[in-house]
Amino acid sequence: MMAENILSTDIQFLPGVGPRRGEVLRGSGVKTFADLLRFYPRRHLDRSIVVPIRKLSDKGAAVTVVGTVVAFGMVPGRRKRFELVVGDDGGQMKCVWFNSLRWISTVFEMGEKVAFHGQPQRYGRSFSMVHPDFDKLGEEGTALDTGRIISLYPGGAKFDRVGLTSRQFRRIIHGLFKEHGREIPEILPKDIRAANRLIDGNVALRAIHFPKSHAELEEARRRLKFEEFFFMQLLLALNRKQKMAKPTGIVFEKSDALSRVFLEEVLPFEPTKGQLDALSDIRRDTQTGHQMNRLLQGDVGSGKTVVAVAAMLLAIDSGYQAAFMAPTEILAEQHYRSIRSYLSALDVDIRLLVGAQKKSVREEILTGLASGVTDITVGTHALIEENVRFQKLGVVVIDEQHRFGVMQRAKMFTKGVAPHVLLMTATPIPRSLAMTLYGDLDVSIMRDMPAGRRRIETWLRFENRRDEVLAFIRKELQEGRQAYVVYPLVEESEKVDLKDAVSGFETLQQELKEFSVGLVHGRMSGDEKEAAMRSFKSGETHVLVATTVVEVGVDVANATVMMIEHAERFGLSQLHQLRGRVGRSHQQSYCVLMADFKRSAEAKERLEAMVRTTDGFEISEADLRLRGAGDVFGTRQSGLPELKLADVVEDQELLRKARDAAFQLAETDPHIRDERLSAMREHFLQTAPKQLRLARVG
Ligand code: ADP
Ligand code: MG
Repeated sequence: MMAENILSTDIQFLPGVGPRRGEVLRGSGVKTFADLLRFYPRRHLDRSIVVPIRKLSDKGAAVTVVGTVVAFGMVPGRRKRFELVVGDDGGQMKCVWFNSLRWISTVFEMGEKVAFHGQPQRYGRSFSMVHPDFDKLGEEGTALDTGRIISLYPGGAKFDRVGLTSRQFRRIIHGLFKEHGREIPEILPKDIRAANRLIDGNVALRAIHFPKSHAELEEARRRLKFEEFFFMQLLLALNRKQKMAKPTGIVFEKSDALSRVFLEEVLPFEPTKGQLDALSDIRRDTQTGHQMNRLLQGDVGSGKTVVAVAAMLLAIDSGYQAAFMAPTEILAEQHYRSIRSYLSALDVDIRLLVGAQKKSVREEILTGLASGVTDITVGTHALIEENVRFQKLGVVVIDEQHRFGVMQRAKMFTKGVAPHVLLMTATPIPRSLAMTLYGDLDVSIMRDMPAGRRRIETWLRFENRRDEVLAFIRKELQEGRQAYVVYPLVEESEKVDLKDAVSGFETLQQELKEFSVGLVHGRMSGDEKEAAMRSFKSGETHVLVATTVVEVGVDVANATVMMIEHAERFGLSQLHQLRGRVGRSHQQSYCVLMADFKRSAEAKERLEAMVRTTDGFEISEADLRLRGAGDVFGTRQSGLPELKLADVVEDQELLRKARDAAFQLAETDPHIRDERLSAMREHFLQTAPKQLRLARVG
């Protein structure tokens, strides 16, 4: 039998597993022997750096304590909890749980040996840990549990119920290596390993589960991280290669007369160099006969819409239609209006398609699309619904695209004959991340801002200075400017937040009696929202109180003040987006962050970053550091293979190496036909089947 056949055996047939554990493991994505090899420890516990209880301190990082369970029980009270006392040679420490009480109360036995990992907190003279991680060490004496470094596996009730403790995992995985360790295929070819100084795959896998030393563990992690990056990049590289091999792209043959007229005669301002360069990238792409997949990156306010409009005119000039997709209805409406006003002097038919429209209106729009009468359609993801048919779709623009996952992108690409795709983002994506998420895209970056813009002044203010802030806003309003006042809207406490915004609105109406104050929030109907936005845009209302619906894309150049209430509750990129709503003209603009004295360390860092810089790239890097890639860019929903060990920020160097290797391979052997690469091909097909289908679609 071939090696991969044994390792692809159903996990329940592995000694120590069986049907019950098998089911739980399968639920966690461990379906085969091979999957278990890559079920990496969540942490390693270095028994040589265990801290004795009497040496604990509440300063510094989380630590590990190993001791014997001395006592435990439920403690009644206002907040019911489960407490446990653990003791070692020199002292005792308490562990406390507030959640999952029923389960946690069944986990421990008196006298058993357990390792607890957490942040010690001081109470008087003793220490406790709240919700520590733990690992039941059981009887000492077996080599697997007492080595210098031992592996801790993902835990929790689900695993615990079937006895899958870290200790059990170590035994089962050890058995797997003993029986089948020699059959683990090498999935990276020799030249790639040599060029990148990587240890062998089977050595790395063994070492990550059973490291002999820190150095060995590090080497193992490096090799396995490389692997993760490599296969992700290979997917992108092959995807791209396939696309380039098929000349299925539409060619915009006619001249670019229309977009020239737009840029040179219609626009009331000079395009920036960045805008012109981006457009010439696009023009070049649409002449090649290949489908364009271009990401246009430009900070908030850099003028991406102008580029999009010019790109759509290229299509229209050659007899094609264009679609412009925005992430929310309110933004679609905004863009619809601004695109119409940009193009009012030209003979272009522009329509809006959103979910909330009346059926008769919708039918009419759909007919216009299908017959080809409509040139530009602006909309939300309603544009990619099944029943939307274009006669000749030439280009699709997706604005603020990090909100659309890879899957939605793929779906969009199936409309018409591979229309060109222009993705636009105002959240500058650090290079490292662009390589993972959009490794198959070409990128145009606009680094300049329209002439005459001034740096937005950003202030951090606490409640005690509210009067001062209001006086300042009044002064700006008296000079004819306008202001936003934004409230957070966190989903979990939507009701409370909404009340906040509404009562803030009422108070402001009192405080700024001589001015007109408007309100817009997500719970309003589409018409109400639009009416509120329109009267702010026209200058009828002077102050717009809003929840985060104004976050992206809203464009009112006369607004010079952005006041953000409870700023400590917003994420960094959200704050940056909000700030980008002002500073859209030559007027000096201001961003006032109203914050609570009591704010977390992380919130403090966010607010400080906002005051320190207005540079979107810097903000983005800071955000990535604070929150991690999964949350910032939705990589988890992106449809790309999951990164278990590798980190796009920490491991940038390795990512670059893996990317080079993958793209080089895709160049020389785009179908991975080389017999020496059969194990790699096998692994690729096994770990990325869904994405592969996606690749073919794209
Ligand atoms: P974003 O890149 O954030 O989408 P917009 O396209 O909304 O930016 O443009 C921001 C503002 O700048 C708009 O009011 C737009 O009309 C204006 N603008 C765009 N390009 C220029 C330019 N070259 N010169 C002056 N103003 C410009
Ligand atoms: Mg925009």
